[in-house]
Formats: sequence, C-alpha cells, structure tokens
Amino acid sequence: MLYIGSHTSYLKDKQLMGVVEESLSYGSNIFMFYTGSNQSTLRFPVNKEITKEAHELMKKNGIDKDKCIVHAPFIINLANNSDPDKYNFYINFLKQELERCIELDIKNIVLHPGSYTTLDRETGIKNIANGLNEALENIEGVNLLLEYMSGKGTEVGTSIDDLAKIINLLNEKTKEKVFVCLDTCHINDSGIDIGNFEEFLDEFDEKIGINKIKCVHVNDSYNAVGAHKDRHANLGYGTIGFDKLINVIYNKRLDNIPKILETPWINRNEKNTYAPYKYEIEMIRKKEFYDYINQK
Ligand SMILES: [Zn+2]
Repeated sequence: MLYIGSHTSYLKDKQLMGVVEESLSYGSNIFMFYTGSNQSTLRFPVNKEITKEAHELMKKNGIDKDKCIVHAPFIINLANNSDPDKYNFYINFLKQELERCIELDIKNIVLHPGSYTTLDRETGIKNIANGLNEALENIEGVNLLLEYMSGKGTEVGTSIDDLAKIINLLNEKTKEKVFVCLDTCHINDSGIDIGNFEEFLDEFDEKIGINKIKCVHVNDSYNAVGAHKDRHANLGYGTIGFDKLINVIYNKRLDNIPKILETPWINRNEKNTYAPYKYEIEMIRKKEFYDYINQK
C-alpha cells in the first residue's frame, strides 16, 4: 500500500489537529511534523484534549498513526561531545522529544545523526551511539529513525557504512529501537545516482538489513550527484527527475514504508505562496508528471 504524506506545521493553538487538517487538505494518508521550530528547542505542553480529537479525525479518515512521523529539530548534535554540557543537553532534549511522541501517540521520530565538527568521523560515530543508548534507555514504543544525510560539512550518516557503524555500536536493547530514514535528495547529494537505487538497496540490505528502513523522504535535488549540498527541489523540477523518484516510491521492497515529501513551498517569499504537496501527491498517485508550477 502507498503511504504518502508531507511535512506539515504543528502550531501552538491547533497542535496535532492542525497537522491532521493540513494533511487531509493535501490528500495525504500520513504526515510528518516538528513539535515546534526545527531550529530551536523551545517547546510548549501537549494538549491532551486536542490530541484525542486529532486521533479521532485520523481514524475517521484512514490516517494510520503508526506510519506517522515526528522530526527532531536540526540543532540536536549527538556527534560532538567536546562540550559535555551541550552534549548532555542534547541527549536530555532528545529524551523529552521521545516522551512528547508518547504523549502525542506518534510512534516514529527522525533524527539527523549530527556533525563531528572539530573531532573526527569515528569519534562522532561513537558519540552518536553512546547518546542514543542513553536517550532511549527508558523509552518504550517509539522508533528512532537515523536519517541518511547528504554529507554537508562534517555530517555523520552520509553513507550506508556510517549508519551501519552507529547501529553496530548500540547496545542490544537500543538496537531494537533504532531504524533508518532514507532521503532521495541526500542519497543523490552523498554521491549515489538514484537511477541505481536497486543496487543501493542491495548494499543496504547486506550491511544493515532492509527491515531497518522505516521511512523515505522523497525530494528532488537542486544539485548534481555527489555535491554534498542538501537543497531539496520539487518533484520533477530537480536533477533526479520525476521518473526515478516514482521508481523509489513504488519500489516493491519499500511497499508499506511511509514516503514523506519535504519539498519547498512555491513562491516562498511572495504573496502567492502555496504548498506543492497536493499537486505532488496527485502526480504520485497518477504516476504522471504535470507542470503545475507554470500551468496552474
Ligand atoms: Zn531530516
């Protein structure tokens, strides 16, 4: 079955209800959101009543809560422990995010593994594994999905090998709770042609296991294979192209895995700005590209 949705806004007043309503307006059957700003750790309490109503609306509309995703803010960096206070702050904040997932009854959270900055890659990998062991120790019922990154700066998790190393360093109990989120733009920017996606999955299966893939972020890229940039483009308007992305979305080995769009809004800085998701989801369901930006 196709589980398709997009990034949505979780705002103070409407919280999860706003996320569900926005998703339904795009024709989504799943969604992803940040529990506040993606750049800060400022958070507000979860309203139980709103959460309950939102789950009722999800049920009524066939949104499967177990396939929905929270995204942890970008600023959490478990790879660098050169400032122990900061490192511990990030671990504690991640714990709070995991507890918020439980309160919101959302079962998956995506995390960027982090950047090693002044350290080295192997130390960064160890720090991430230690941080995850600690953050997940007393958490049950939430999957943590490490995102495959584009390789910007000193990012960790920019290859199957990096992710395999992190997962192998986890203790057995944590390992059961840790999964992977792929991102087509990041895979492209990390140096792999999405046209060779089958071979990528073969390697992933051999080194990590395909059952560890819990989500795919579907984005086109503004940059060439191996650019290490991470600029998401709208589907069919980037260097990957619509057909290769459709092959990922409908790949049999990833059937039932949630696919999330994180593509940019159209005319973002102008008055007539709009979300692309309704159009992209329609194109995905029809498996046919349509130049909605210029023909709308
Ligand atoms: Zn991400």
